[in-house]
Amino acid sequence: MSGILDGKIALITGGTGGIGKATCKRLTKMGARVVSTYLGESKAVEMREQMKEQGCNIAIYPCDVSDFDQCQALADNIQNDIGPVDIVVNNAGITRDTTMKKMTAEQWQAVINNNLNSVFNVTRAFIESMLERQTGRVVNISSINGQKGQFGQANYSAAKAGIHGFTMALAQEVARKGITVNTVSPGYIATEMVMAVPEEVRNQIIAQIPVWRLGKPEEIAALIGFLASEDAAFITGANFAANGGQHMH
Ligand code: NDP
Repeated sequence: MSGILDGKIALITGGTGGIGKATCKRLTKMGARVVSTYLGESKAVEMREQMKEQGCNIAIYPCDVSDFDQCQALADNIQNDIGPVDIVVNNAGITRDTTMKKMTAEQWQAVINNNLNSVFNVTRAFIESMLERQTGRVVNISSINGQKGQFGQANYSAAKAGIHGFTMALAQEVARKGITVNTVSPGYIATEMVMAVPEEVRNQIIAQIPVWRLGKPEEIAALIGFLASEDAAFITGANFAANGGQHMH
């Protein structure tokens, strides 16, 4: 595995979270120089220490991906400090679950801004450099709930479904320039977000998953690593479900 991404620079947004951390590790092991973003300073310090202990040297920049100007500044800073980014993994995301009857405009907008507008903001900041260099990989992290919908998640399901529309449109625009754009749609993964759900509810979720367990962040990271590699050059505009068979589309 080592060496497949040698010389590549990879940006993973939301690298302090469960799937983000596993992806930072995976891409580093594959040889990439990995850069990530953080919102909360304390989580960033913790992540830097954890990664160092595991032999991963990750550069981590503050950036609110829901803010267009901060993403532009991020692109300039990475370009100046490290170099041109070859791989963008749009992974940062949030939930604000509630039924439509109770959903506030703030809850709707927060999820659309952080999960969907962020994908535009980040990709827009890096795509021109990829087009100029005629090489690049964009991997957008959606969700099983963007494919099937989910009770209490009209905001999240809408944002996550929108991500794949974005993937398919951009994939067509940039395919001739050697850039691929794909979506990964994880099912329920054992990250803090899911482990915070009461055990009883978690067991009800697991009962609906044919493989009878939650996914591991490393399993999502492995798929992202493949899509970021040269071996995946013929795959673009695709949506990869990794959900233990919970939803087959
Ligand atoms: P976590 O909650 O563990 O991590 C989310 C990450 O996103 C954190 O690093 C967080 O930063 C960051 N983030 C959130 N908003 C912003 C923002 N505006 N700007 C910058 N960073 C931001 O989530 P997971 O690892 O579980 O999920 C990662 C992705 O996978 C998400 O897009 C999620 O929707 C998707 N997903 C997860 C599933 C699961 O079962 N876990 C299932 C399907 C999809 P900070 O901590 O600093 O706030």
